[in-house]
Amino acid sequence: MEGALTARDRVGIQDFVLLDTHTSETAFLGNLKKRFSEDLIYTYIGTLLVSVNPYKELDIYSKKQMDIYMGVNFFELPPHIYALADNAYHTMMAEANNHFILISGESGAGKTEASKKILQYYAVSCPSTTLLDSVRDRMLVSNPVLEAFGNAKTLKNDNSSRFGKYMDIQFDIQGDAVGGHILSYLLEKSRVVHQNHGERNFHIFYQLVEGGEEDLLHQLGLESNCQHYSYLVQDECANVTSINDKNDWKTVRNALSVIDFDESDIQHLFGIIASVLHLGNVQFEADSKGYATLNKNTELRWVSTLLGINVQVLQEGLTYRKIEAKTDEVLSPFTVDHAIYARNALAKAIYGRTFTWLVNKINDSMENKEPSRKTVIGLLDIYGFEVFYVNSFEQFCINYCNEKLQQLFIQLTLKSEQEEYEAEGIGWEPVQFFNNKIICDLVEEKHRGIISVLDEECLRPGEATDFTFLEKLEEKMGSHPHFITHKLSDKKIRKTLDRGDFRLLHYAGEVTYGVVGFIDKNNDMLYRNIKYVMRQSKNAIVRECFASTESDSRRRPETVASQFKSSLLGLTDILMSKEPWYVRCLKSNESKQPGRFDDVLVRHQVKYLGLMEHLRVRRAGFAYRRRYELFLQRYKPLCPATWPHWRGVAAEGVEVLVQHLGYLPDEYKMGRTKIFIRHPRTLFATEDAFEVC
Ligand code: ADP
Ligand code: MG
Repeated sequence: MEGALTARDRVGIQDFVLLDTHTSETAFLGNLKKRFSEDLIYTYIGTLLVSVNPYKELDIYSKKQMDIYMGVNFFELPPHIYALADNAYHTMMAEANNHFILISGESGAGKTEASKKILQYYAVSCPSTTLLDSVRDRMLVSNPVLEAFGNAKTLKNDNSSRFGKYMDIQFDIQGDAVGGHILSYLLEKSRVVHQNHGERNFHIFYQLVEGGEEDLLHQLGLESNCQHYSYLVQDECANVTSINDKNDWKTVRNALSVIDFDESDIQHLFGIIASVLHLGNVQFEADSKGYATLNKNTELRWVSTLLGINVQVLQEGLTYRKIEAKTDEVLSPFTVDHAIYARNALAKAIYGRTFTWLVNKINDSMENKEPSRKTVIGLLDIYGFEVFYVNSFEQFCINYCNEKLQQLFIQLTLKSEQEEYEAEGIGWEPVQFFNNKIICDLVEEKHRGIISVLDEECLRPGEATDFTFLEKLEEKMGSHPHFITHKLSDKKIRKTLDRGDFRLLHYAGEVTYGVVGFIDKNNDMLYRNIKYVMRQSKNAIVRECFASTESDSRRRPETVASQFKSSLLGLTDILMSKEPWYVRCLKSNESKQPGRFDDVLVRHQVKYLGLMEHLRVRRAGFAYRRRYELFLQRYKPLCPATWPHWRGVAAEGVEVLVQHLGYLPDEYKMGRTKIFIRHPRTLFATEDAFEVC
């Protein structure tokens, strides 16, 4: 019928693997766009889920929807984040092994929303015994709490995650969600004392000031007005239309009682948040000798009360540094700049450590102490790739992390897939892809990478500056194809760089970093005497946060970048031991507008996320593979020759079995140790037959 659209024309193809035209980028984008215009934000590439941020509420996340997806074969329903969650869950149950879901995409693409949807799916849909409901409730409410303390408005996203989060959801043998555990990665602490133009501090500050009850604010010595606090008004964007701090406050306040916080914890926690705000208002001036003293209008009373530290002791900690000479200690007074630096360092340290304390506390409340066997699904939601007008140490760390995740993806999919075909002796046309290992090495290689150079400079206090760091980089990285600076570039490119910049050609695009602040931020120094001062705190959380063993040792603490690097290596190990699932989030437009699909922007993401390569590997390859023994073990009841026992070699048994089931020659291949099945349909048919028998 002319003019009439078939359903397929209208909604596009739900799995790119089935896109029969060809594997061109244009066809790929056309399909994504067509689906997006029908509010179909999810599309598969095999078992990988592509999600495009709609920037509007869609009616697809109800309990009814969850029920529809529960236990149904992956490809039998329209693509959905619930289908992926369900498939991971059922595979985990069937194979009794551990899985993880890697959610990636740039800042604002929808990663955090996706991870919340998955958690909700497990919490709501999995079988339940009332005993465990409290654990699930805690898992669910941990989100708003961590978001309040760890998220902030940035230029990219009004609710941008400023820490990385990996959460294990533990399931018992019956498939009940019985516990959870969170690992957090590098919180962007610098935000506590400084925000770029158009950005905000962490949500919790505004929530407390705007939403806090009168009594509470009174106890904390706070005014109900953000304008009073210099840490909150640097950029005059305290109010954001998409954020309702008052409501969010109520949510967080309720959540804290669900997660085992008693009243004294809550008092102490808000005491800390308020003390940081008060600390931000502490001003210094120079005395006759040019040393820092407290400004006349400043009072330390509130900081002192809330942290439970004597005013004099606190004042001394903020204006002097103790230098330990051979036998005694000498007090060395700060200049005003130095005092401001020490004040900010303290505010960041208090906030950062409290965040870690909070994560531990949440973990305690979600812990499952039963010794029984459990399997897990890990959810990784980490800050996405970021490019701002001005990029600093924080973006350097965040983008490095994204390089690592891309590398993991490459290793687990593109590379391992092809290596597996080779190892199994399956005929195969290799697919070319960009391997970003070269950029990971540039950043992290021992003795030679950017982090090593930075750490070396951090070891030369007094001599090294951000600019000597840049010079060292130029010496060492000068000829690297992914590294340039003003000095190293030709005339045309030089115009786009300042003298204090270096530029990395990341897998996702170019980013120019300003070196100012790199050394300080990497050192993240807090004077030892202020740590001792904090240990005298009457606020139990502060005392606990500063009581750690690290501060006594005279060894130089690990730098921030090195710590981050080791924690990312740890994360890679955790993930490598589990079965992967992928959600790739795409940003539909830069202005957060509902329903707008910016072709250029989406095309760029499709390119750098390697989706086309992934599709090519998938199309040419096999959706499923299983070791002969496992395959035979599961499906042997379907064939009289293999039931109840197959006495010969497993591979031969499998051959007999699939012949009996009528597999066509094109549908499968026999490798050295595994059977490879081209299309999921084939396996589903077998699975259905199995369920009937
Ligand atoms: P990321 O974590 O990738 O930086 P978020 O998950 O915080 O991004 O998403 C940014 C914003 O985009 C959200 O606050 C929300 O407004 C919108 N958004 C993301 N995913 C969805 C979705 N599935 N449905 C509706 N809106 C969404
Ligand atoms: Mg996020």
